[in-house]
Amino acid sequence: MSECIFCAIVEGEIPGRTVYETDEVLAFLDVNPLAEGHTLVIPKAHHERVTDMPESLAAEVMRGVYHVTEAVEAAVDAEGATIAFNDGEAAGQEVPHVHAHVIPRWHGDGGGPIHAIAGERPDLTDEELDDVAERITARL
Ligand code: 5GP
Ligand code: ZN
Repeated sequence: MSECIFCAIVEGEIPGRTVYETDEVLAFLDVNPLAEGHTLVIPKAHHERVTDMPESLAAEVMRGVYHVTEAVEAAVDAEGATIAFNDGEAAGQEVPHVHAHVIPRWHGDGGGPIHAIAGERPDLTDEELDDVAERITARL
């Protein structure tokens, strides 16, 4: 039995309601959905964080997200979707196998925008914004 619950789903050791599958990617319904149709898209290989994946696999996961989002929205007649990764424990990731959440959304559904998940906004000066942009660019 796999130690990782999502690896166990990939291996068929525990059941999952699979909606999409390729050689490298699997998508299945979240067992405790935030909305009808809430789907998780994962790489079949075990990687914890988004940037632990090879770039080509990350692109395949994104391809899965693209197709799954279109299908989920159509299936539940959604008006939009929140598409997000909790990337790392600090960001609220509970299952340490990278997964994209595709959560169908409707006007007035009581949910918030992705802006609602961060802490207090920092009050950064123009100089500080320039500086952080430079530091990011220098690493790319
Ligand atoms: P996280 O907080 O790690 O981003 O989200 C983990 C998600 O996985 C949660 O939304 C949770 O409901 C879902 N989940 C946890 N265990 C299982 C499981 O055994 N099967 C399925 N289908 N989803 C699971
Ligand atoms: Zn895993």
